[in-house]
Amino acid sequence: MSASRPTVLLVEDEPAQREVLAYNLEAGGLNVLRAGDGEEALLLVAECAPDLILLDWMLPNVSGIEVCRQLKTRSDTKAVPIIMLSARSEEVDMVRGLETGADDYMTKPYSVAELMARVRAQLRRSRPAAAGGRLEFQDIVLDGETHRVTRGGTEVKLGPTEFRLLAAFIEKPGRVFSREQLLDRVWGRDIHVDSRTVDVHIGRLRKALGQGGRDDVLRTVRGAGYALG
Ligand code: CA
Repeated sequence: MSASRPTVLLVEDEPAQREVLAYNLEAGGLNVLRAGDGEEALLLVAECAPDLILLDWMLPNVSGIEVCRQLKTRSDTKAVPIIMLSARSEEVDMVRGLETGADDYMTKPYSVAELMARVRAQLRRSRPAAAGGRLEFQDIVLDGETHRVTRGGTEVKLGPTEFRLLAAFIEKPGRVFSREQLLDRVWGRDIHVDSRTVDVHIGRLRKALGQGGRDDVLRTVRGAGYALG
């Protein structure tokens, strides 16, 4: 596993289908959040900022297409890739799904192998560090495959937690992460860590990146959290 595990929100109202899919996603090294309807999905997106959403079309209360439309019109969620899952096979429905902003579309019954391939393709775009990519911000370079970080060509020694923190930031330069979002992303939802721990590791990351009197690139946003640049 490189960087932190990407989180997928799975929105499916059929419990059996949901569990089969969740099993495969988890076996593929992903964190899975589950929602059984559209309202729950919208709440979880706001709370947990997932890296990708698998969205069933036919859902009780708020339909999948409406969830997709809402998320793709909000500035804070429109970049999150959405793969629509549908029992409908008519081409007109697929076109409608994509017009609503979905990034990909699969018709049930789908092959799990093909779905996983499409999930990975979308994650390479939204979570390049987790997918083993190379990311740059100003003179900082993070290599998701070798786990090496350099600044101005000089190697920066980071602990695993600081590496995952930097990976989260460098994937979304300028984005403000709350302490809770960093806890979810870097430590994982199942681990209980005090939010002050985040501050300690941010301090270490700052110190490591600032070696040799270089500029501080991490910004503290009062009352909100931290951002890169
Ligand atoms: Ca359904």
